[in-house]
Amino acid sequence: MPGKTPNTPTPNPLQRARRVVIKVGSALLVDAASGRLNRAWLETLVADVVRLHRQGKEVVLVSSGAIALGRRHLGLPKGPLRLEESQAAAAVGQIRLAHAYKELLEQWDLQVAQVLLTLEDSEQRQRYLNARATLSALLARGAVPVINENDTVATAEIRYGDNDRLAARVAQMISADCVILLSDIDGLYTADPHRDPNAEFIPLVREITPEIEAMGGESASDMGRGGMTTKIIAARIAVAAGCHFCIAAGAPRHPVRRIEQGGRSTWFRPSASPVAARKQWIAGTLKPAGVLRVDDGAARALSAGKSLLPAGVTAVQGRFERGDTVSVQSADGRELARGIVAYSDSDALRIIGRRSEEIPALLGFAGRDELIHRDDLVLS
Ligand code: GLU
Repeated sequence: MPGKTPNTPTPNPLQRARRVVIKVGSALLVDAASGRLNRAWLETLVADVVRLHRQGKEVVLVSSGAIALGRRHLGLPKGPLRLEESQAAAAVGQIRLAHAYKELLEQWDLQVAQVLLTLEDSEQRQRYLNARATLSALLARGAVPVINENDTVATAEIRYGDNDRLAARVAQMISADCVILLSDIDGLYTADPHRDPNAEFIPLVREITPEIEAMGGESASDMGRGGMTTKIIAARIAVAAGCHFCIAAGAPRHPVRRIEQGGRSTWFRPSASPVAARKQWIAGTLKPAGVLRVDDGAARALSAGKSLLPAGVTAVQGRFERGDTVSVQSADGRELARGIVAYSDSDALRIIGRRSEEIPALLGFAGRDELIHRDDLVLS
């Protein structure tokens, strides 16, 4: 159709994705009437995960359901729970949830890893880096992380509160290129389709405008916490991090395969690539925590797009921790680049001018070969 842009993305972003985060809502996992795990359905989801894995993709599951699954076992009533009741239910439900994933993924020879996060794990840099490194190590070894909020310790003021946002944060943390929210609704409508018969379905969102934001009514389910508003907030986080973001119905069997094959869903387009988004964030640092001064060889390597190795650094200034943004400067004090440093100032001081192979002996632990990896570096 000349002159007209298609309003479904082609090709489907899921087909091209390398790293996919799939969020599974409570209402899908747990049968509302019996409070039991919807096992037959979960088997089909797991088969879809295996399918993606066999295509060479890395898959992370963000799964709700702990509270919904645990409450029956503690004899808690239907309806809203007090904070400590939902935390107790989560403690009982999470172990069952993790076990179900383990059993089903193991049948396909996939390792499952339980990761429970709190809000600080994505907001505080040190913890963010640790969580990111753990997830990368798991993915590199072919495991499937199953993530949930650490409900038993997260208190009201410091919680994600809903797993839609948690999924987007995780995607941002691991530079995923695709997030899929499996939900009780099949996508975004111009109005709440439960109330308004004229509500129109929106297959593709190119930009999250105020009109799009206004479309977030509440979802019909009372099991999970996320309504459409939280989904749009999650979409905003994900697209800014360079992720394709998809809202689709989770209830049909093989819900991910359905999306892959072009089933009805709303796709939000990313506003930058994951690396570009990260670099934007680095470039936007107002006040670098320190300075690494480099020799001419390192300066040339940087402008050729290489990482910064300890060997080319001649001096370290300022106080910084691993994960802080520092300024990289030439011998005459010109800023060449900014980047996220992989070592604290005191560790950096001990390894500068030395070869990367010497790092374990110098520091007593094996860190990264680079002081600043090129993905974490922006030329000035
Ligand atoms: N973390 C909660 C649970 O596992 C779910 C939060 C949500 O539904 O978004 O029950």
